[in-house]
This record gives sequence, structure tokens and C-alpha cells, in this order.
Amino acid sequence: MKVGDNMQFNTALLHQNFSGDAYTGSTLMPVYQVSAFSHESAEQLEKVFNQKASGFAYTRISNPTVDSFEKRMTAIEKGIGAVACSSGMSAVAMSLLNILESGDEIIAGSGLFGGTIDLFEDFRAFGITTHFVNSVTAETVEPLINKKTKVVFAELIGNPKLDVVDLNEVSQLVHSYGIPLIIDSTTATPYLINPFDYGADVVVHSSSKYINGGGNSISGVIVDSGKFQWKTERYRSFEPYQKYGKFAYLAKLRNGIWRNFGCCLSPVNAFMNSVGIETLGLRMERLCGNALKLAEFFESTDGVSVNYPALKTSPYYELVQKQFGGKGGAILTLRAGSKEKAFRLINSLKYATIATNIGDVRTLVIHPSSTIYTHSSEEQKRNAGVYDDTIRISVGIEDISDLIEDFSQATEKIKEVK
Ligand SMILES: *Cc1c(COP(=O)(O)O)cnc(C)c1O
Repeated sequence: MKVGDNMQFNTALLHQNFSGDAYTGSTLMPVYQVSAFSHESAEQLEKVFNQKASGFAYTRISNPTVDSFEKRMTAIEKGIGAVACSSGMSAVAMSLLNILESGDEIIAGSGLFGGTIDLFEDFRAFGITTHFVNSVTAETVEPLINKKTKVVFAELIGNPKLDVVDLNEVSQLVHSYGIPLIIDSTTATPYLINPFDYGADVVVHSSSKYINGGGNSISGVIVDSGKFQWKTERYRSFEPYQKYGKFAYLAKLRNGIWRNFGCCLSPVNAFMNSVGIETLGLRMERLCGNALKLAEFFESTDGVSVNYPALKTSPYYELVQKQFGGKGGAILTLRAGSKEKAFRLINSLKYATIATNIGDVRTLVIHPSSTIYTHSSEEQKRNAGVYDDTIRISVGIEDISDLIEDFSQATEKIKEVK
């Protein structure tokens, strides 16, 4: 299959940058579950090690199954290259540590995934400070930019705050200061948007979620647009990588911190992701449809209030039309009135699985305040849109009539709670 630029999304998921295994004709790239690759001569291995010949040496550095997954991610995010990681958290960490030094500052949204907020706390021990803004807009970010600012980091659709970043506005602002915008696009997925089309410079995904789609492998991926100019006045550590031109960021990552931290993706997990990615379009179409219908149902239900960015009543409705063609993703949050009511609602559900994950084919529910945000202060929780009565729902592909019936009986039950 030839690689073309004019394939539609679902065709590209199957064919772009992918044609199976050239060696065997296997329709999927097999799992090369090995640690090392043998070579005919010492000279040959020297060439592979020094990137003078193509080939594989050691799975921490590269592996055919992982490489194939990276190429498919590169294609569907329209980047110039991708680096797969052992988890979404390692992708977030590596995407940032590739450019940061002690003394540097990050500007980030406060509605971030709980693990990312904890990570930014960990960065403090290494002299890296994060300034949190309530929502990432040109207006909130600009006053915090100074000489030490090295990056603006945001989740495109905040998990679980569900605030949406206006990428054109924010990227234009940060670029005018010579700073890149790194976007965690886990909850938006390439089905809703390619953030590079709107000025983002680097995209990260927790591919454990929608990319994998079946809830069977932890993984992450970093994709680079190749568009950002890493000027050495601000990014000193890029000096030796200038010779790679637009590949400077990826070359630095692969030859440096990512390789040396050893957070490579396992071949089996890369394989599971490559299987998952093929149905991303189908799943997201169904998931977003179900999420909207469920959100509309909650809107007309007494006793709960719903947050979903594609609802007309959401402050992000216009932006969702503009950036995502009206689709709002597959996560919504509810407020049930109290922690007791939230717990009763969760415990009354027949189909929803109580689990800390999103992006599965099955509907998942969680009480974020007592779980994902259990390490956060009250202020951090509030800024992240997490209250004592908040329930996060990761909507699945079940039949919507069953979901509505289930949530309907569960919301009835909370009326019994005083
Ligand atoms: C889950 C998640 C992460 C972390 O990914 P893991 O694969 O669990 O390490 C980061 N960002 C967002 C938005 C997530 O939902």
C-alpha cells in the first residue's frame, strides 16, 4: 500500500505509513519479543550503533514492532516522527525533560490529570518550577512568561475538568515569545483534531486510553511537528542537535533522556496499540455519540448537574464547534450533590465498571476526589474541577438505551440519600 496524503481518517488508520511486515507478508507487524538483534559482523553492528546503517540493536533503543506503532502514530497525528514510551506519564515527563534544565519554568493548566500535577511537584526537587493557570488562554499565560519560561503545557480537553484550550490563540501567543506549546491530546485523540494544524509543537498521548481502546496495555507516545525552532539562546542544550534541523527535538530525545531513562515501550504493548489504532475512528464516532446522548439525558434529569463540552450550555460549546467539528470527546462529569450521593450512584450502576481508567470500550466510572486526586490539596482539587460530589464517566460503546436506563435507575436511588 502506497503512502498518500489524501486518505480519509479511517483509511489512514489502516494504511498510512503501514503495510504489514515486509519480511513475511504478515498483515500485522508481528511481536518481535526480543531484547537484542544479531548482526553479521562487528563492522555492521558498529554502523547500526552509529546510525550509519538502518537496523535494530537493542529493544530499549528500537524494536520493529514499536517502530511500526510509532510510524502509524506519526502518520495519524501528521507529525515528522514519534517516540513511544512505557506509559503516558513517561511520555509527559520525557517530552518536558528533553528541553528543561534546573532553574527553568513551565506554565501549565491547573485542570491537569492528577498524575501530571504530581509529576510537576516532583520536578521541584530538580529546580524546575511550574506556574499553574486556571485555564490556559493567551490572557492567563502572557503575564507569567519570563526569561526562564521554557514551555507551556496543556491538556487539550482537560481530564477531568473538561476545559478546552483554544490552540490557535495560545500557540500564537507563546510563539511570539519563542516558546513551544506541548499538548496532551489524550482525551481529544486524532479523531477530533490534529493539534499541529492549530499551532501545537509537540503532542503527547497516554496511548493506554483511546489509542489502545481496549484497556489492555499501558503506554504513551510523543509526536513532534518538527516546526518549532529551538533557538540556542533559550534552549542551550540543543546546541549539539542543531545539525539535525527539524529533527533536533526527536534526535535529542532518542539519543538522550528517553533512551537513558529506559522508559521504552514493550513490543507486546506496541502490538496491542497497533491493533487498537485501526478502530480508533469507529470507536470515537460511537463514543462521542453516546457521550452526547448521555449528557443530554443528564441535563434533563433532576438531582445531578452535568459537564460536557459539546453541550450548548457549556462555555466551550463554540470552541468545540470550531476546533472539533462539534464533537466533545467521550468523558463527562456529574455532580451528585454530596459524596454519599456520588458513592450511591456509582454503586447502583449495573453496567459501568468502577475503575481508574478512560478510553476503554466499556463505560467506566470513578469518584476522582477520593482516588486520582487523593494526593492533591483542596485548592488543587477545586482548580482541577474536582469536588467531593464529582463523578467522572468514561463513556463506552454499549447501546445507549441500556446506558440511559442504567444511569436513570441509579440517579433515582440517590434521592434516598439525605
Ligand atoms: C491517563 C492519562 C495520563 C497518564 O497516562 P498513563 O498511561 O496512565 O501513564 C496522562 N494524561 C492524561 C490526560 C491521561 O488521561
